[in-house]
Amino acid sequence: MVNEPSDLPAPELRKAEWVRVVLDVPLPGPFDYKCDFPVETGMRVIVPFGRRKMIGMVVELPELPAYDPSLIKSVELVLTDIAPLPDHWLRFARFAADYYQRPLGEVVLPALPLSLRSVTAYQGKRSAGGPVARLDQRRAPVLKASAVSAVPELNAAQQLAVDLIIAAEGFKTFLLYGVTGSGKTEVYLHAAAQALARGKRVLMLVPEINLTPQFEQALRARLEPVAGIGGVAVLHSGLSDGERLRAWLRVQRGEARVVLGTRLAIFAPMQDVGLIVVDEEHDPSYKQQDGLRYSARDLAVWRGHDLGVPVVLGSATPSLESWVRAERGQYQRLSLPARARAVSLPTVRLVDTRRLKMDHGMSPHLLTAMRERLENKEQVLIFLNRRGYAPALHCASCGWVSQCPRCTTFTVLHRTTPGRHQLHCHHCGYQQRVPHACPDCGDQDLQPMGRGTQRIEEHLGELFPESRIARIDADSTRKKGSAQALFASVHAGEIDILVGTQMVAKGHDFANLGLVGVLNADAMLFSQDFRAPERLFAQLMQVAGRAGRHTGHGEVIVQTGYPEQPVYQALLKHDYSGFAKHSMQERESAMLPPFSHQALLSAEARDLNIAIAFLQSAKDTAMAIMEQQLSTEMITLYDPVPLRIVRVDNMCRAQLLIEATHRPAIQSLLRHWLAEINTLPESRKVRWQLEVDPLEI
Ligand SMILES: [Zn+2]
Ligand SMILES: [Zn+2]
Repeated sequence: MVNEPSDLPAPELRKAEWVRVVLDVPLPGPFDYKCDFPVETGMRVIVPFGRRKMIGMVVELPELPAYDPSLIKSVELVLTDIAPLPDHWLRFARFAADYYQRPLGEVVLPALPLSLRSVTAYQGKRSAGGPVARLDQRRAPVLKASAVSAVPELNAAQQLAVDLIIAAEGFKTFLLYGVTGSGKTEVYLHAAAQALARGKRVLMLVPEINLTPQFEQALRARLEPVAGIGGVAVLHSGLSDGERLRAWLRVQRGEARVVLGTRLAIFAPMQDVGLIVVDEEHDPSYKQQDGLRYSARDLAVWRGHDLGVPVVLGSATPSLESWVRAERGQYQRLSLPARARAVSLPTVRLVDTRRLKMDHGMSPHLLTAMRERLENKEQVLIFLNRRGYAPALHCASCGWVSQCPRCTTFTVLHRTTPGRHQLHCHHCGYQQRVPHACPDCGDQDLQPMGRGTQRIEEHLGELFPESRIARIDADSTRKKGSAQALFASVHAGEIDILVGTQMVAKGHDFANLGLVGVLNADAMLFSQDFRAPERLFAQLMQVAGRAGRHTGHGEVIVQTGYPEQPVYQALLKHDYSGFAKHSMQERESAMLPPFSHQALLSAEARDLNIAIAFLQSAKDTAMAIMEQQLSTEMITLYDPVPLRIVRVDNMCRAQLLIEATHRPAIQSLLRHWLAEINTLPESRKVRWQLEVDPLEI
């Protein structure tokens, strides 16, 4: 007979002589220590490291140390303020470290709240007991119950999706493919409520929380009645250290039954997970861009597999990676073909700007449509993915253009206060006063070149003096809470025209928005990155999806000089699957992902030649390893090349791309290669890093 978990004796702490510890240091590790205290894996310890003391995590209790015992130092303290991290969590961290080719310590420790991994939080009289004890002594915050909200009825497609998800036994990945406004969220909420009712927990990832408080409110209102008050924990990088610690502890102690979070929440130490959801699975923000360069979406699928639970990836424009897996039957596709409110999708109109006289970058068609909607008391959104006043300042007499002295890029003109401007570099943060005259020829007539959101906002103010205009971009929302306040005023109908960057595209359900105008979309079309059209299509579909969500007669006007491009033709018909089919044929014939696997070795140095020389020796080393492994036919190594913006903050950047048809081949090469790269003399002259499955090339 199987014992109930509660009948099992509490695990006895082993008095270990040796412990293997990982630390957050840029060395391979792990490190062995002697330990005179009872300890088990998943516990944190304070250990000496060089001249410092550090918090590390015990990942193994070896019989014997890996090196001479006389050289081994002792653990100073075993921290028992939280329960040891469970084995499945360590297994997950180990997979992430192996897959992304990083030391385990660089995965395990950054996944913990800051105060749980900083020695100072445990030292000195004032810190007695550590941050957890201090937090527990304080009175717990009073949690307010959310107002219970009505549960909407599902349409047939939604109901079928929910039924299939909850019927899944064990691991299975679903691709929930639904047009904007088709009610994917309702499917998540119903499936989540079912998992909770079975006593399980739910992990839900979203690209962004601060910008979409509506989603958090809906989730709380619907799931807290099932999960219990305070049963929803929110984890994202915008939390203060204290807030993050409190939320993390509620997850780790099992008090939170639903975790809603951004990519970092994939490392939440949850037990009894019954469902994992990744909303907007195509969103690039699931990919961490420094340190451990993981994809939270991909890790979610691995974690679901490891825990034996269903994973739901949702999107109106799935990544081609996920789409191909659905086509091959590895994922089960669930389609929501219609808008849940039974309103039709917005009409898309392409305005060919080639022969038109434009008014500050806006076509007569767009301005007429705006006027009509505004007269009809509807809201208008102008989407321009370029913040600032103008992308550069230039001199018409000699051709001088404002350039960053530290980067090979233009400095962007920003309006700081009404009537005052500054030049900012968006790559290194360099700031400069606007010169009174051209530095090259002395001409005083310097002109802004092109348009950013500030300039459009200013010009719209002149064209529509009666309208209330707001701008939402990274500049206007710098202060904490300001984005929420701006969005709230749009929802409250206090704004007539909203100008914004991609920040406005994400998940907002604007009830009264009738028209979306898209300016300068072509800027993204001719990027060197092969994923640029895919990203542009996703972004345009998302922003287009803001129009007419409640009224059903929304319109989207896209201004372009290239209306015949497949991405725009597909947008015209809201035809994701046609676009995906076209893109997949292109990718397959070029053997690009998802039909191959990539890794990127990049290097930075003051001198471009040094960066290139390092990459060249790294390439030679890889060739030598491949010859030994006899695997040359499966892996392609490209030549080192400088990046398009070669210099940023006075560092020159170059990269080397590796491509393979088989994932195991590339993983095996990377493992051997990393060790060799570390011993190259050139590696000490550069900053370098290796990225697996890079999103930007
Ligand atoms: Zn000049
Ligand atoms: Zn710069």
